[in-house]
Amino acid sequence: MTVVSESSRGAFLSVVVPVLNEEDTIEPFWSRMRAILANLEVAWEIIFVDDGSTDRTIPVILQVFAGQTNVRIVKLSRNFGKEEALTAGLTYAAGQVACIIDIDLQDPPELLPEMIERWRAGDDVVVGVRSSRASDTRFKKASATAFYAVYNRMSDVPLPANMSDFCLIDRRIMEFVVALPERSRFTKGLLWWPGFSRTVIQYPRASRIEGDSKYSYLKLWNYAIDGLTSFSSVPLRMWTYVGLLIGVVGIMYAVYLVVRTSIFGVDVPGYASIMIAVLILGGIQLVSLGMFGEYLGRMFVELKGRPIFLVDKVIELSSRPDDTTGRQTW
Ligand code: UDP
Ligand code: MG
Repeated sequence: MTVVSESSRGAFLSVVVPVLNEEDTIEPFWSRMRAILANLEVAWEIIFVDDGSTDRTIPVILQVFAGQTNVRIVKLSRNFGKEEALTAGLTYAAGQVACIIDIDLQDPPELLPEMIERWRAGDDVVVGVRSSRASDTRFKKASATAFYAVYNRMSDVPLPANMSDFCLIDRRIMEFVVALPERSRFTKGLLWWPGFSRTVIQYPRASRIEGDSKYSYLKLWNYAIDGLTSFSSVPLRMWTYVGLLIGVVGIMYAVYLVVRTSIFGVDVPGYASIMIAVLILGGIQLVSLGMFGEYLGRMFVELKGRPIFLVDKVIELSSRPDDTTGRQTW
Protein backbone atom coordinates (compact mmCIF):
# COMPACT_ATOMS: atom_id res chain seq x y z
CA MET A 1 0.00 0.00 0.00
CA THR A 2 1.31 3.44 -0.85
CA VAL A 3 0.71 6.07 1.74
CA VAL A 4 0.51 9.60 0.46
CA SER A 5 2.25 11.78 2.95
CA GLU A 6 1.01 15.28 3.57
CA SER A 7 4.27 16.71 2.32
CA SER A 8 3.91 15.08 -1.08
CA ARG A 9 0.78 17.18 -1.42
CA GLY A 10 2.89 20.30 -0.98
CA ALA A 11 1.29 21.70 -4.09
CA PHE A 12 1.70 23.26 -7.39
CA LEU A 13 -1.73 24.25 -8.57
CA SER A 14 -2.80 24.49 -12.20
CA VAL A 15 -5.94 26.53 -12.75
CA VAL A 16 -7.53 25.46 -16.03
CA VAL A 17 -9.94 27.96 -17.58
CA PRO A 18 -11.66 27.37 -20.92
CA VAL A 19 -12.58 30.57 -22.73
CA LEU A 20 -14.72 31.26 -25.75
CA ASN A 21 -15.35 34.91 -26.60
CA GLU A 22 -14.90 36.11 -23.04
CA GLU A 23 -13.21 39.50 -23.52
CA ASP A 24 -15.49 41.10 -20.91
CA THR A 25 -15.12 38.50 -18.17
CA ILE A 26 -11.32 38.23 -17.99
CA GLU A 27 -10.69 41.37 -16.01
CA PRO A 28 -13.41 40.71 -13.36
CA PHE A 29 -12.23 37.09 -13.13
CA TRP A 30 -8.69 38.16 -12.37
CA SER A 31 -9.65 40.89 -9.94
CA ARG A 32 -11.45 38.27 -7.82
CA MET A 33 -9.04 35.40 -8.39
CA ARG A 34 -5.88 37.33 -7.76
CA ALA A 35 -6.27 37.70 -3.98
CA ILE A 36 -7.45 34.11 -3.60
CA LEU A 37 -4.40 32.71 -5.36
CA ALA A 38 -2.08 35.05 -3.48
CA ASN A 39 -3.44 33.80 -0.14
CA LEU A 40 -3.18 30.13 -1.03
CA GLU A 41 0.51 29.85 -0.21
CA VAL A 42 1.05 27.45 -3.06
CA ALA A 43 2.77 27.94 -6.37
CA TRP A 44 0.24 28.21 -9.17
CA GLU A 45 -0.18 28.61 -12.88
CA ILE A 46 -3.20 29.57 -14.94
CA ILE A 47 -3.85 27.83 -18.22
CA PHE A 48 -6.39 29.54 -20.41
CA VAL A 49 -7.63 27.38 -23.24
CA ASP A 50 -8.82 29.62 -26.01
CA ASP A 51 -11.51 27.58 -27.68
CA GLY A 52 -11.59 29.42 -31.00
CA SER A 53 -12.54 32.88 -29.75
CA THR A 54 -13.32 35.40 -32.45
CA ASP A 55 -13.31 38.45 -30.18
CA ARG A 56 -10.43 40.08 -28.30
CA THR A 57 -10.14 37.34 -25.68
CA ILE A 58 -6.42 36.69 -26.27
CA PRO A 59 -5.29 40.34 -26.45
CA VAL A 60 -7.31 41.07 -23.30
CA ILE A 61 -5.68 38.15 -21.43
CA LEU A 62 -2.26 39.41 -22.51
CA GLN A 63 -3.12 42.88 -21.31
CA VAL A 64 -4.74 41.92 -18.00
CA PHE A 65 -2.01 39.44 -17.11
CA ALA A 66 0.90 41.50 -18.38
CA GLY A 67 3.90 40.89 -16.14
CA GLN A 68 2.75 37.46 -14.93
CA THR A 69 5.11 34.63 -15.77
CA ASN A 70 2.91 31.76 -14.73
CA VAL A 71 0.07 32.24 -17.19
CA ARG A 72 -0.27 30.36 -20.44
CA ILE A 73 -2.75 30.47 -23.26
CA VAL A 74 -3.31 27.27 -25.16
CA LYS A 75 -4.91 28.50 -28.35
CA LEU A 76 -6.90 25.81 -30.09
CA SER A 77 -7.06 25.92 -33.87
CA ARG A 78 -10.84 26.43 -33.81
CA ASN A 79 -13.85 25.96 -31.53
CA PHE A 80 -13.80 22.34 -30.37
CA GLY A 81 -16.26 22.69 -27.47
CA LYS A 82 -15.78 23.17 -23.76
CA GLU A 83 -15.28 19.48 -23.00
CA GLU A 84 -12.49 19.18 -25.54
CA ALA A 85 -10.99 22.47 -24.32
CA LEU A 86 -10.85 21.04 -20.80
CA THR A 87 -8.96 17.99 -22.02
CA ALA A 88 -6.52 20.34 -23.75
CA GLY A 89 -6.10 22.32 -20.54
CA LEU A 90 -5.46 19.23 -18.43
CA THR A 91 -2.94 18.01 -21.01
CA TYR A 92 -0.91 21.16 -20.54
CA ALA A 93 -1.37 21.43 -16.76
CA ALA A 94 1.91 20.85 -14.96
CA GLY A 95 0.56 20.99 -11.39
CA GLN A 96 0.23 18.25 -8.81
CA VAL A 97 -3.34 19.36 -8.56
CA ALA A 98 -5.63 21.13 -11.01
CA CYS A 99 -8.66 23.33 -10.55
CA ILE A 100 -11.13 23.55 -13.39
CA ILE A 101 -13.17 26.73 -13.30
CA ASP A 102 -15.30 28.72 -15.73
CA ILE A 103 -14.27 32.27 -16.40
CA ASP A 104 -17.74 33.67 -15.71
CA LEU A 105 -17.46 33.29 -11.91
CA GLN A 106 -20.74 31.38 -11.63
CA ASP A 107 -18.80 29.08 -9.32
CA PRO A 108 -17.12 30.82 -6.37
CA PRO A 109 -13.29 30.69 -6.47
CA GLU A 110 -13.43 31.52 -2.75
CA LEU A 111 -13.94 27.78 -2.20
CA LEU A 112 -10.45 27.02 -3.52
CA PRO A 113 -8.70 27.12 -0.11
CA GLU A 114 -11.21 24.64 1.31
CA MET A 115 -10.89 22.43 -1.75
CA ILE A 116 -7.13 22.42 -1.38
CA GLU A 117 -7.48 21.57 2.30
CA ARG A 118 -9.62 18.58 1.40
CA TRP A 119 -7.13 17.52 -1.25
CA ARG A 120 -4.30 17.83 1.27
CA ALA A 121 -6.33 15.67 3.62
CA GLY A 122 -6.35 12.97 0.97
CA ASP A 123 -9.25 13.56 -1.40
CA ASP A 124 -8.35 13.09 -5.05
CA VAL A 125 -11.46 14.65 -6.56
CA VAL A 126 -13.25 17.57 -4.94
CA VAL A 127 -16.28 18.59 -6.96
CA GLY A 128 -18.56 21.59 -6.66
CA VAL A 129 -22.27 20.84 -6.40
CA ARG A 130 -24.90 23.53 -6.88
CA SER A 131 -27.11 23.68 -3.83
CA SER A 132 -29.37 26.17 -5.57
CA ARG A 133 -29.83 27.19 -9.16
CA ALA A 134 -31.46 30.54 -8.53
CA SER A 135 -29.70 31.95 -11.59
CA ASP A 136 -31.20 29.33 -13.92
CA THR A 137 -34.56 29.45 -15.65
CA ARG A 138 -37.30 27.12 -14.43
CA PHE A 139 -36.95 25.04 -17.57
CA LYS A 140 -33.20 24.66 -17.09
CA LYS A 141 -33.70 23.62 -13.46
CA ALA A 142 -36.36 21.07 -14.38
CA SER A 143 -34.33 19.65 -17.26
CA ALA A 144 -31.22 19.37 -15.08
CA THR A 145 -33.20 17.49 -12.40
CA ALA A 146 -34.63 15.17 -15.05
CA PHE A 147 -31.20 14.60 -16.55
CA TYR A 148 -29.58 13.53 -13.26
CA ALA A 149 -32.55 11.31 -12.40
CA VAL A 150 -32.37 9.49 -15.74
CA TYR A 151 -28.57 9.45 -15.88
CA ASN A 152 -28.15 8.06 -12.38
CA ARG A 153 -30.66 5.30 -13.05
CA MET A 154 -28.90 4.24 -16.21
CA SER A 155 -25.22 4.80 -15.57
CA ASP A 156 -22.83 2.44 -13.80
CA VAL A 157 -21.12 5.45 -12.26
CA PRO A 158 -23.83 7.69 -10.79
CA LEU A 159 -22.93 11.37 -10.40
CA PRO A 160 -23.81 13.71 -7.54
CA ALA A 161 -26.93 15.58 -8.70
CA ASN A 162 -26.26 19.15 -9.84
CA MET A 163 -22.55 18.52 -10.11
CA SER A 164 -20.69 21.37 -11.77
CA ASP A 165 -17.48 21.40 -13.76
CA PHE A 166 -15.86 23.40 -10.99
CA CYS A 167 -13.53 20.97 -9.28
CA LEU A 168 -10.11 20.19 -7.92
CA ILE A 169 -8.40 17.02 -9.07
CA ASP A 170 -5.20 15.31 -8.13
CA ARG A 171 -2.51 14.76 -10.74
CA ARG A 172 -3.20 11.04 -11.05
CA ILE A 173 -6.86 11.70 -11.88
CA MET A 174 -5.73 14.28 -14.45
CA GLU A 175 -3.45 11.73 -16.04
CA PHE A 176 -6.11 9.02 -16.12
CA VAL A 177 -8.62 11.36 -17.68
CA VAL A 178 -6.26 12.75 -20.29
CA ALA A 179 -5.18 9.22 -21.20
CA LEU A 180 -8.76 8.05 -21.81
CA PRO A 181 -8.89 7.71 -25.58
CA GLU A 182 -12.56 8.51 -26.08
CA ARG A 183 -13.52 11.42 -28.34
CA SER A 184 -16.91 12.06 -26.79
CA ARG A 185 -15.78 13.78 -23.62
CA PHE A 186 -18.36 14.18 -20.91
CA THR A 187 -15.87 15.68 -18.48
CA LYS A 188 -18.04 15.40 -15.35
CA GLY A 189 -18.46 11.70 -15.91
CA LEU A 190 -14.81 11.21 -16.82
CA LEU A 191 -13.62 12.93 -13.64
CA TRP A 192 -15.95 10.91 -11.44
CA TRP A 193 -15.30 7.64 -13.24
CA PRO A 194 -11.79 6.79 -11.89
CA GLY A 195 -13.13 6.62 -8.33
CA PHE A 196 -10.47 7.02 -5.61
CA SER A 197 -11.37 9.41 -2.85
CA ARG A 198 -14.14 11.71 -4.05
CA THR A 199 -15.97 14.43 -2.22
CA VAL A 200 -18.37 17.26 -2.97
CA ILE A 201 -18.66 20.86 -1.86
CA GLN A 202 -22.04 22.59 -1.95
CA TYR A 203 -22.59 26.19 -2.95
CA PRO A 204 -25.32 28.31 -4.51
CA ARG A 205 -24.61 29.06 -8.15
CA ALA A 206 -24.41 32.71 -9.12
CA SER A 207 -25.34 34.37 -12.39
CA ARG A 208 -22.79 35.09 -15.06
CA ILE A 209 -20.78 38.24 -14.33
CA GLU A 210 -20.91 39.35 -17.96
CA GLY A 211 -22.25 38.13 -21.27
CA ASP A 212 -24.50 35.18 -22.01
CA SER A 213 -24.20 31.43 -21.69
CA LYS A 214 -22.60 29.76 -24.70
CA TYR A 215 -25.00 26.86 -24.33
CA SER A 216 -28.26 26.95 -26.26
CA TYR A 217 -30.98 24.44 -25.34
CA LEU A 218 -30.01 22.40 -28.40
CA LYS A 219 -26.37 22.31 -27.26
CA LEU A 220 -27.47 21.29 -23.76
CA TRP A 221 -29.64 18.54 -25.19
CA ASN A 222 -26.70 17.18 -27.21
CA TYR A 223 -24.51 17.45 -24.13
CA ALA A 224 -27.02 15.37 -22.16
CA ILE A 225 -27.17 12.72 -24.90
CA ASP A 226 -23.36 12.66 -25.03
CA GLY A 227 -23.26 12.10 -21.30
CA LEU A 228 -25.83 9.33 -21.33
CA THR A 229 -24.39 7.47 -24.30
CA SER A 230 -20.85 7.76 -22.91
CA PHE A 231 -21.75 6.11 -19.63
CA SER A 232 -24.66 3.81 -20.30
CA SER A 233 -25.76 1.26 -22.85
CA VAL A 234 -29.24 1.05 -21.31
CA PRO A 235 -30.82 3.27 -24.02
CA LEU A 236 -29.60 0.73 -26.55
CA ARG A 237 -30.59 -2.40 -24.66
CA MET A 238 -33.96 -1.31 -23.33
CA TRP A 239 -35.60 -1.86 -26.72
CA THR A 240 -35.27 -5.59 -26.24
CA TYR A 241 -37.56 -5.31 -23.24
CA VAL A 242 -39.91 -2.79 -24.84
CA GLY A 243 -40.14 -5.16 -27.82
CA LEU A 244 -40.73 -8.16 -25.57
CA LEU A 245 -43.50 -6.37 -23.71
CA ILE A 246 -45.22 -5.30 -26.90
CA GLY A 247 -44.77 -8.82 -28.32
CA VAL A 248 -46.41 -10.44 -25.29
CA VAL A 249 -49.31 -7.97 -25.36
CA GLY A 250 -49.60 -8.57 -29.12
CA ILE A 251 -49.77 -12.36 -28.69
CA MET A 252 -52.40 -12.03 -25.98
CA TYR A 253 -54.46 -9.77 -28.22
CA ALA A 254 -54.04 -12.22 -31.13
CA VAL A 255 -55.31 -15.11 -28.99
CA TYR A 256 -58.27 -12.98 -27.94
CA LEU A 257 -59.06 -12.14 -31.58
CA VAL A 258 -58.83 -15.80 -32.69
CA VAL A 259 -61.13 -16.93 -29.88
CA ARG A 260 -63.56 -14.10 -30.48
CA THR A 261 -63.63 -14.67 -34.26
CA SER A 262 -64.22 -18.43 -33.85
CA ILE A 263 -67.11 -17.81 -31.48
CA PHE A 264 -68.75 -14.72 -33.00
CA GLY A 265 -67.50 -14.88 -36.59
CA VAL A 266 -65.70 -12.20 -38.62
CA ASP A 267 -66.17 -8.73 -37.24
CA VAL A 268 -66.37 -5.45 -39.20
CA PRO A 269 -62.76 -4.69 -40.27
CA GLY A 270 -61.02 -2.86 -37.39
CA TYR A 271 -59.45 0.14 -39.08
CA ALA A 272 -58.86 2.03 -35.85
CA SER A 273 -57.11 -0.79 -34.00
CA ILE A 274 -54.89 -1.56 -37.00
CA MET A 275 -53.95 2.09 -37.39
CA ILE A 276 -53.13 2.40 -33.69
CA ALA A 277 -50.95 -0.70 -33.78
CA VAL A 278 -49.15 0.45 -36.94
CA LEU A 279 -48.55 3.97 -35.63
CA ILE A 280 -47.38 2.93 -32.17
CA LEU A 281 -45.12 0.19 -33.49
CA GLY A 282 -43.79 2.44 -36.27
CA GLY A 283 -42.99 5.16 -33.72
CA ILE A 284 -41.29 2.78 -31.35
CA GLN A 285 -39.25 1.27 -34.16
CA LEU A 286 -38.09 4.67 -35.36
CA VAL A 287 -37.13 5.78 -31.86
CA SER A 288 -35.18 2.60 -31.26
CA LEU A 289 -33.50 2.96 -34.63
CA GLY A 290 -32.64 6.56 -33.75
CA MET A 291 -31.13 5.42 -30.47
CA PHE A 292 -29.14 2.85 -32.36
CA GLY A 293 -27.97 5.68 -34.63
CA GLU A 294 -26.81 7.73 -31.63
CA TYR A 295 -24.44 4.97 -30.63
CA LEU A 296 -23.45 4.09 -34.17
CA GLY A 297 -22.62 7.73 -34.90
CA ARG A 298 -20.45 7.90 -31.83
CA MET A 299 -18.74 4.64 -32.71
CA PHE A 300 -18.03 6.12 -36.15
CA VAL A 301 -16.40 9.14 -34.54
CA GLU A 302 -14.38 6.94 -32.18
CA LEU A 303 -13.30 4.68 -35.00
CA LYS A 304 -11.97 7.52 -37.10
CA GLY A 305 -9.76 8.41 -34.16
CA ARG A 306 -9.30 12.05 -35.02
CA PRO A 307 -7.52 14.08 -32.33
CA ILE A 308 -9.73 15.51 -29.60
CA PHE A 309 -8.33 19.00 -30.19
CA LEU A 310 -5.66 20.74 -32.23
CA VAL A 311 -3.39 23.37 -30.77
CA ASP A 312 -2.56 26.38 -32.87
CA LYS A 313 -0.01 27.77 -30.43
CA VAL A 314 0.88 28.05 -26.78
CA ILE A 315 1.48 31.58 -25.64
CA GLU A 316 3.62 31.96 -22.51
CA LEU A 317 3.20 35.33 -20.92
CA SER A 318 6.42 37.23 -20.71
CA SER A 319 7.76 38.47 -17.39
CA ARG A 320 8.43 41.89 -18.83
CA PRO A 321 5.53 44.17 -17.88
CA ASP A 322 5.87 46.19 -21.08
CA ASP A 323 5.65 43.13 -23.31
CA THR A 324 2.01 42.38 -23.95
CA THR A 325 2.47 40.51 -27.18
CA GLY A 326 3.24 37.17 -25.58
CA ARG A 327 5.87 34.72 -26.63
CA GLN A 328 4.95 31.94 -28.98
CA THR A 329 6.48 28.60 -28.07
CA TRP A 330 4.62 26.26 -30.36
N1 UDP B 1 -16.71 27.57 -23.27
C1 UDP B 1 -15.73 27.04 -24.11
N2 UDP B 1 -16.12 26.50 -25.31
C2 UDP B 1 -17.42 26.43 -25.70
C3 UDP B 1 -18.41 26.94 -24.81
C4 UDP B 1 -18.02 27.49 -23.60
O1 UDP B 1 -14.54 27.08 -23.79
O2 UDP B 1 -17.70 25.94 -26.80
C5 UDP B 1 -16.29 28.13 -21.95
C6 UDP B 1 -16.83 29.52 -21.62
O3 UDP B 1 -15.98 30.54 -22.11
C7 UDP B 1 -16.88 29.50 -20.10
C8 UDP B 1 -17.21 28.05 -19.80
O4 UDP B 1 -16.85 27.30 -20.96
O5 UDP B 1 -15.64 29.82 -19.49
C9 UDP B 1 -18.68 27.85 -19.46
O6 UDP B 1 -19.49 28.38 -20.49
P1 UDP B 1 -20.90 29.05 -20.20
O7 UDP B 1 -20.81 29.95 -19.04
O8 UDP B 1 -21.37 29.65 -21.49
O9 UDP B 1 -21.79 27.77 -19.85
P2 UDP B 1 -22.90 27.61 -18.71
O10 UDP B 1 -22.30 28.16 -17.46
O11 UDP B 1 -24.07 28.38 -19.17
O12 UDP B 1 -23.13 26.14 -18.65
MG1 MG C 1 -21.47 29.89 -17.15
